[in-house]
Amino acid sequence: MANETIKRDVVIIGSGPAGLTAAIYTARASLKPLLIDAPADAHKQTTPGGQLMITTDVENYPGFSKGIQGPELMEEFRRQAERFGTEFMETWITEVDLSERPFQLYTESQTISTETLIIASGASAKWLGIPGEAKVPNGFGGNGVSACATCDGPLPAFRNRTLVVVGGGDTAMEEATFLTRYAAKVYVVHRRDKLRASKIMQEKAFRNEKIEFIWNTAVQEILGSQEEGVTAVRLRNLQTGDEQIFPCSGVFVAIGHKPNTDLFKGQLDMDEVGYLKTSGHSTATDVPGVFAAGDVQDSVYRQAITAAGTGCMAAIDAERFLDHLPVAMPSGEEITDEGEHVTADHKAIITPDGHMIPNQEPQVEI
Ligand code: NDP
Repeated sequence: MANETIKRDVVIIGSGPAGLTAAIYTARASLKPLLIDAPADAHKQTTPGGQLMITTDVENYPGFSKGIQGPELMEEFRRQAERFGTEFMETWITEVDLSERPFQLYTESQTISTETLIIASGASAKWLGIPGEAKVPNGFGGNGVSACATCDGPLPAFRNRTLVVVGGGDTAMEEATFLTRYAAKVYVVHRRDKLRASKIMQEKAFRNEKIEFIWNTAVQEILGSQEEGVTAVRLRNLQTGDEQIFPCSGVFVAIGHKPNTDLFKGQLDMDEVGYLKTSGHSTATDVPGVFAAGDVQDSVYRQAITAAGTGCMAAIDAERFLDHLPVAMPSGEEITDEGEHVTADHKAIITPDGHMIPNQEPQVEI
């Protein structure tokens, strides 16, 4: 039972690039943000600091001409958020109530009540769950096994080598196509004889001479040594049952991502996969005062820099909302925290009691 209530103007969920950027901005705006993150849990795939904590070299984050290690970058983000007074809390949120403001977040022993909520709980790559896939030192994760070609593909270990991509969706086609810039050959291993990917992405991959497909096949195990990294995979043909050891230097698992939104089901609008829907003109969700940033609302770009960018947007949106300024909603209209609606065409304001007033000065004839 909750026995302590904490009150805040801004609560942020998640400590990846989106959450920490939102923290930096709201802390500098003197909003005293509370950032809540789940404790590290290998089974539930929670890692304070987010997906960059399981990445090695980050070469594409602007500002680091020589590259930086993922965990080091997140440590810098965190220090910057701390410097301006962000308060951190590591706990499991068990339930949320977003039906009215202030919103209520429940943990084992506390109720956290907040005027605005920034959700930056990220997405987790789906994994195959096979031997050799786990993070170093229990497997080759981070040392030849990756779920992000954009992050890891350009690393020297993968250049001019034979690589395996697992999956048959758009992500797999995109990763395979991207990897051909560096790799000698890319084999896409798919469990069926048909791809799920969109036609245009399939055709692009089929046309690429560096890509070959291995159909009706599952990767059973990733083989190698900690010194050499990945050296092969054990493949099993799902129709014949035949197995083979297939030499390769890297495995990219591209079987989809799962946004971390279970907590918000039935309370916030999401797409069929579970990504939170935001306005497009702002980070507003369909509940006024709740904003979403980073991979939890982005199935397309999924980069640290775009996550940080939307974290900044969410902070500014929350700030505007607390200052009673209108924020763009997914419907196209704008809404204030007092419940005023500005119509999508900006021509009228609807007050909380239902009155419509013009949003423009009357035209003066000259
Ligand atoms: P999808 O769910 O579309 O595809 C996942 C693929 O992985 C499927 O081919 C599936 O096989 C396979 N798979 C799933 N689980 C396993 C498993 N345990 N073992 C082996 N294979 C498995 O995910 P994506 O990430 O590809 O795409 C997600 C969404 O993001 C889609 O809507 C996509 O269109 C979009 N997207 C768009 C991009 C773009 O437009 N540039 C780029 C990337 C993604 P099966 O087919 O047999 O189910």
